[in-house]
Amino acid sequence: MNQIKGEQVIDLEQPLIKVPYEQLRKSVKYSNKYLDVQMNNVMDKIQRCVKAAEQNEISPEKAVETIDELSEQLENTKRKLKKYWTEENAHAKRLKARVNHLNEISGITSAKAPEFQHWSDTRLNRVIVDYLLREGLTETAKQVAQANHVEDMVDVQLFAQSEKVEESLRNHSCKECLQWCSENRSSLKKQDSTLEFNLRLQEYIELARAGKGIEAINYAQKYLSPWQPTQFKRIRQAMALLVFSSDTQCQPYKDLYDTRRWSELTAQFRADNYKLCSLTSHPLLSITLQAGLSALKTPQCYQLENRNVHCPVCDTDTLGKLAEGLPLSHHVNSTVVCRISGKIMNEDNPPMMLPNGRVYSYESLHDMATKQDGRVTCPRTGDTFTFDELKKVFVS
Ligand SMILES: [Zn+2]
Repeated sequence: MNQIKGEQVIDLEQPLIKVPYEQLRKSVKYSNKYLDVQMNNVMDKIQRCVKAAEQNEISPEKAVETIDELSEQLENTKRKLKKYWTEENAHAKRLKARVNHLNEISGITSAKAPEFQHWSDTRLNRVIVDYLLREGLTETAKQVAQANHVEDMVDVQLFAQSEKVEESLRNHSCKECLQWCSENRSSLKKQDSTLEFNLRLQEYIELARAGKGIEAINYAQKYLSPWQPTQFKRIRQAMALLVFSSDTQCQPYKDLYDTRRWSELTAQFRADNYKLCSLTSHPLLSITLQAGLSALKTPQCYQLENRNVHCPVCDTDTLGKLAEGLPLSHHVNSTVVCRISGKIMNEDNPPMMLPNGRVYSYESLHDMATKQDGRVTCPRTGDTFTFDELKKVFVS
């Protein structure tokens, strides 16, 4: 039970590696593309200059000017590449730290080993930071990460950028989010995202709400019509929207004017962004807790009478709530657990029945009897009995 199976422990850890890997891949792609464009441009200029010189069509002053231009351009390229390089190095550093962290688990065999405790503490800290970041508590997350030395294991920068976009959506502006869409257009297209269309539709709706009919039509021609092949029905609805005022009760126009669409846009951005960054849609904290809770959940957990004080699922106000949608744990063999001590009842610690029909372990009842002058009290009913009234129970 205390044995560690490394590959199972890191089952949930894919985003930990995927996030910096994707960032590194993107950064390398952008820098290569940038370098390509710049070098083609420089080579083109040089060739034109050489050609002109061969045909004596360039004055020495003009040639010097061109060389100065080229050297300035190359300086700028160098500066920009240095920026990319620093960025790539930072991603690579985080990637390396994370691979090393996951690799540590392969050398640990026991859950009781101090190395595993240390590893688990690191995991707990980064999972908590991930939760704080998703809740928008960026400053708190940063401090927790710093205090626990897990800065390389968490994606503060990534979430801070998303928070900026979400904030602008909360303030009813599509600008930042549209910018984000244009930066990630090809990846969003690959996942068939409709986020950009919905943002454009929202801007159109705002024009209609403000009574700017002509502007709305121009906007639709420019930004909505390219989506015709896949969004024809919705574009048609949008066009009809112009004849309804924003207080209309007529559907679907009432829904189109509804300001709740802004929260839907935020949710869609969040989902698309997480998908793009290979992040899980729910916080790792909930997923990790649910994985553990699903192993403990039994049908008794939600029966008030049979709740076990030591079972986290039985606490329906906290962890029990998180376990609500989970399946019951799969037990091949039943184990009988004492309600008082939480220990398993077996031949060494047999179940004992009180005259009122309640069953507890021998050890717990014996302990109680020693402290209470040979008497035992049923924790469920409060009835008291003498120890010799108890009967041993045989489970077959
Ligand atoms: Zn329970």
